[in-house]
Amino acid sequence: MKAAVILKPGVIAIQDLPIPTPGPGDVLLKVEACALCGTDQRVLSGEKHVDVPIVGHEITGCVTAVGAGVTQFKPGERYIVQTVVGCGECPMCALHRENLCEKGFKAIGYQWNGGFAEYMIMPKKAVDQGCLIPIPQDLSPELGTLIEPLSCCVNGMKYIPMETAEHVLIFGGGIIGVLNGLVARARGARRITIMDVSTDRLNLLQKIGLPFDDFVSSREHKPDEWVKSATRGRGVDAVVVAASVKQLVTVGIKLLKRSGHLSIFAGMPKSDPTELTDLNLIHYLELNLHGANSSALAEYLTARDFLVNGKIDGRKLVTHTFPLAQFDEAVKVQANPASGSLKVVIKP
Ligand SMILES: [Zn+2]
Ligand SMILES: [Zn+2]
Repeated sequence: MKAAVILKPGVIAIQDLPIPTPGPGDVLLKVEACALCGTDQRVLSGEKHVDVPIVGHEITGCVTAVGAGVTQFKPGERYIVQTVVGCGECPMCALHRENLCEKGFKAIGYQWNGGFAEYMIMPKKAVDQGCLIPIPQDLSPELGTLIEPLSCCVNGMKYIPMETAEHVLIFGGGIIGVLNGLVARARGARRITIMDVSTDRLNLLQKIGLPFDDFVSSREHKPDEWVKSATRGRGVDAVVVAASVKQLVTVGIKLLKRSGHLSIFAGMPKSDPTELTDLNLIHYLELNLHGANSSALAEYLTARDFLVNGKIDGRKLVTHTFPLAQFDEAVKVQANPASGSLKVVIKP
């Protein structure tokens, strides 16, 4: 089979490898599609280390073979893959919140080979946890790959009462900002603003026709002044920080109305994650701050259902698809905002 193999940091080659054989309890998937994400980019460039040479964790696949003892999965069935695999023993895993596993979770595409290959093994531990999530026969492979990142946004927003939100502001117009916005829309938020420094990015989102109310350049508008005039001084119900810029947390807190919510969706640079913030704002205005770390089964099911029942239209989001042979080109297109890419998908 063909696979995109990391030879050393920053050096990837398309290689011919034997199709892996599923061991007891494993399931062999034919990869229908696997999307590139920002984390993959950091691994491919050598900035982030993983334990395996094949990455890719936003996967749609079809069962082609099963190992000894597997009875509930049959060749021909289609699934998407839950990335996170917990220890299975700690109190958080007992609640099926494997993304908060107290022993630290492992993940497909990080500790086990991922989806940038024609075939991949779903290991027994992941199969037993329920990481193969069924999808309808008519859901396209490309749309299937959106379920993983969308589930992370469902997870990050689950603390925020979107159903009653009048106005939600999202920092970051990349795919993650967009998916957060679409979850807010699907859950009933009335006005949704995307704020980004890049006008190219904002123009792309408008050109695609995404269902948001405002596309605001934070280069041209000071966020606090814009929000003040847009909300007649009250502030927004919720801010989602979907860009790895730690100052946006401090800026975002000042945009909230009383009892508002701020989600720190993006991880901050590990070398410099500390930020000075006026805690009295949180205290006196009764503000709520939330974290977001990957997702677990319940969020995958919600994300899948949003896409399947049309509450979220994902069709406009996949802007580019490439065969595995053009993996290098796909990586370049995904990394370059001027290419007009939002989500780039590999179809091995
Ligand atoms: Zn990802
Ligand atoms: Zn655990």
